[in-house]
Amino acid sequence: MGLFEGKKGLVLGIANNFSIAWAITQKLHEQGAEMAFTHLPDGERPKNENKVRKLVDPIGAKFVMPCDVCDDAHIEAVMEKTAAEFGKIDFILHSIAFAPPADLTGPTYACSRKGFGLAMEISAYSLLAVSGAAKKAGILNEGASILTLSYFGGEEVIPGYNLMGICKAALECCVRYLASELGPSGTRVNAISAGPLRTVSSSGVGDFDKMQLVNAAMAPLRRNLDADEVGSMGMVMLSKLSSAITGEVVHVDCGF
Ligand code: NAD
Repeated sequence: MGLFEGKKGLVLGIANNFSIAWAITQKLHEQGAEMAFTHLPDGERPKNENKVRKLVDPIGAKFVMPCDVCDDAHIEAVMEKTAAEFGKIDFILHSIAFAPPADLTGPTYACSRKGFGLAMEISAYSLLAVSGAAKKAGILNEGASILTLSYFGGEEVIPGYNLMGICKAALECCVRYLASELGPSGTRVNAISAGPLRTVSSSGVGDFDKMQLVNAAMAPLRRNLDADEVGSMGMVMLSKLSSAITGEVVHVDCGF
């Protein structure tokens, strides 16, 4: 019997088959989880929805719906749908980040006020918003686990990571406050700090190739991460195997 038999959860942040959220989803599915998914809202053509559906319909997605985390009404609608379809859930995977390219690629002192605000809103505040909405909707089962994705550039300066490093520092701090505040009602909140993996988001990071080269040259394991490895640890952090871990940032980065 899989670790997630009878367990249900929400996954926010699959863009395509390279997404870290998809790597984790596959491991959750192998273990028997029942899941629902959100995608970035589309314009006239359902491009984002189609990309997500192509992956998750074959694994029995309970529902797929749009959610822009900048919009409280979207987040609330997701929680309402979750309550209606699942009743209560056991996990939420938050695998979302964004910074306007012009603000991300330059030095941090040159980023715009507006770009800084948007990057922080999507990449850090949204974890508070999603967690708060789930709590308010009363959909979190006792022992529920919330997981987000971070990167080492939030702890130390990694040239090229720039504004996103500042966002990750804030995100990791959100994890600790949320863990403290939601812990008494039995909810755990953690982050995985993953090594560099090529995805839509990481392709917007300047010097990404150098980040991978440095990781492979300097990490104790002398190699880069495989998406499958962050998938496995994501599954562990959302499962009862990590039941005494909260407020933690677990590094899945070959030791870097
Ligand atoms: P990705 O592009 O596949 O995923 C990012 C997701 O964020 C996408 O699904 C996108 O639709 C979503 N998103 C952006 N703006 C949004 C909004 N306003 N509302 C809702 N969703 C929005 O890339 P990824 O690398 O899988 O990124 C997932 C997470 O992992 C991010 O937090 C990223 O910073 C983090 N991370 C990535 C790496 C890496 O090297 N790829 C390393 C460490 C951490």
